Amino acid sequence: MTLSSSSHQWPLVKRLFELWNGDSSFRNAVEHDFDSLGKTYPLCTDSLTLAKQLWQDNSFTKHHYSRKTFPQLHQFMQHQQELITLRSQIREDCTPLPANFKKWRHCQINRCDWQFGPEKNNTIIHMPICFELSQGCSVGCRFCGLSAPKLSSVFDYTPATSRLWKEILQVCRDILGKSSSRASLYWATDPFDNPDYERFCLDFHSILDIFPQTTTALALADIDRTRNFFRLSQEKGCELNRLSVHSVADLLTLHNNFSAEELARVELVLQSKGSLQKKVGAGRLLNSNDKSVEKTTISCATGFLVNMVEKSVRLISPWPANADHPSGYKTYDHGQFTNAVDFSSLLQQMISTTMQHSFSSQDPVLLTPGIRCLTRENTTLLSSAHREVPLSQVSDLPRLRDLIGSHNAGEIALHYLETEGMEPVLTFMTLNSLLCSGILQAGVQQ
Ligand code: SF4
Repeated sequence: MTLSSSSHQWPLVKRLFELWNGDSSFRNAVEHDFDSLGKTYPLCTDSLTLAKQLWQDNSFTKHHYSRKTFPQLHQFMQHQQELITLRSQIREDCTPLPANFKKWRHCQINRCDWQFGPEKNNTIIHMPICFELSQGCSVGCRFCGLSAPKLSSVFDYTPATSRLWKEILQVCRDILGKSSSRASLYWATDPFDNPDYERFCLDFHSILDIFPQTTTALALADIDRTRNFFRLSQEKGCELNRLSVHSVADLLTLHNNFSAEELARVELVLQSKGSLQKKVGAGRLLNSNDKSVEKTTISCATGFLVNMVEKSVRLISPWPANADHPSGYKTYDHGQFTNAVDFSSLLQQMISTTMQHSFSSQDPVLLTPGIRCLTRENTTLLSSAHREVPLSQVSDLPRLRDLIGSHNAGEIALHYLETEGMEPVLTFMTLNSLLCSGILQAGVQQ
């Protein structure tokens, strides 16, 4: 078998990997009954040739393949690398304009390094704002990491609501700058539950210059709508959309209804049984005993979560999912608005007062949950599941370990004044630096 056009077929490789990753029967057939693939799966001749090269001829191993003999795979790998680069770029773009917000986000990102590890944390874009255009979600996924409640209401597109929407976006642009253009228009919602989602996206594009990235689990509910949406978002320059795929049957239906080219820039999030993709132990899977479920978070916002139906704003940041934070994020503040002026005041007030990155005298000084102090070979270490640093490397305050968790910042400053003659301002500088390194938290608010 030879390929019909050797270098433009990476979408076929992507499709093969989707089958491999999402369907255990496909993996089984590849390994034990390769000849049945063509009969069981809707694969064209070129796909079968690629599958043979990938898994039968041993011409490919994950870390070594010949670029010349396998250009499609090389292009697919390049595409994957582009996605990683794009994510880093988006993370950078998410840096908000106000200095206070920027610094607070930076401190939260440092905390996440301790709590989730740098590898996971690098995949979190920490977007400064996101919107929900409905209340709840109609899909009810068994693995929903945000435990979305049932769909109860939708933010309709009327003359009044569209005016409010545009005004809100203008406020975002004015306060948060370009970072607001990286917002998503869904959170614990499915964007396609809102029949006017496309119109909200178009307004977003006209005010913030970017067509927002979309993830939906409802791609098959109305295939024409999905196809038109892909066309629209591509036309407006959207770099990537994602579809959540719940079963092998849905994966095959997607492959049957959309060409490999149409799905080339659509990431499939494979949630089917038997999928190799790991699930997150947050929300509905918080107490799952399944070993393939990772105790982490799907939350990717360090900023404002805005629900347009209930006109609410919450200030949130990722947090390891646990009984106190079942959806994998922590809420630092919340409020309501009735119009764009209120909304603007609410944002500004949270930025100036809630986004704390220094201690006041009364703040209890606590270690960030997940970090502990331990002694090894006469060295005091700060240690989490992901990082370990000698305390002396980040603080020159003697025996600070004995004071954390039992004193407030003012008491600690007084202690060092009395015992070491140290100016309180210097003690506060160290405590604030530890706060911004994500090691300490300042009482309740942090
Ligand atoms: S995972 Fe997404 S689509 Fe599924 S229930 Fe949660 S919010 Fe809805």
